[in-house]
Amino acid sequence: MRSQLTNAAHAEILERISECNHMTVSHVDWNIFLVKLQGDQWTVNLLEKTCTCKVFDLDHLPCAHALAAARERNLDYTSLCADYYKEEVIVDAYSTSIMLVGHPHTWVIPPDIRNRVVLTPDIRTQTGRSRRSLILSVSERPSR
Ligand SMILES: [Zn+2]
Repeated sequence: MRSQLTNAAHAEILERISECNHMTVSHVDWNIFLVKLQGDQWTVNLLEKTCTCKVFDLDHLPCAHALAAARERNLDYTSLCADYYKEEVIVDAYSTSIMLVGHPHTWVIPPDIRNRVVLTPDIRTQTGRSRRSLILSVSERPSR
């Protein structure tokens, strides 16, 4: 079966699927699962696409625990992946015309723009080592 995910996302999912083979999954409710492996446990919410390991929350790609929960519910794991991991979305993003800029020697630049001089910001940096010790404010100083 051809995955609708990108090759990199599909490879990552396959690696995570191999991790979830020995996990035990129990239902908390229709969308929440308790996933256990060797004394550790994680809570997966398939509706909110979260897991207590936070990998699912941050990657927006199901972690091994979420994949174990999805397998328990016979849910297609691609529905748990963010759209930006899907080939169709990437193809759509680049489907419109891309205007090439060309070499800078071929650019037509109006003279008023060409003659502008852009200077560096007028900021002086102090010489020597940067200060490392904290300077306390008046309210933080110890009273005498
Ligand atoms: Zn997880």
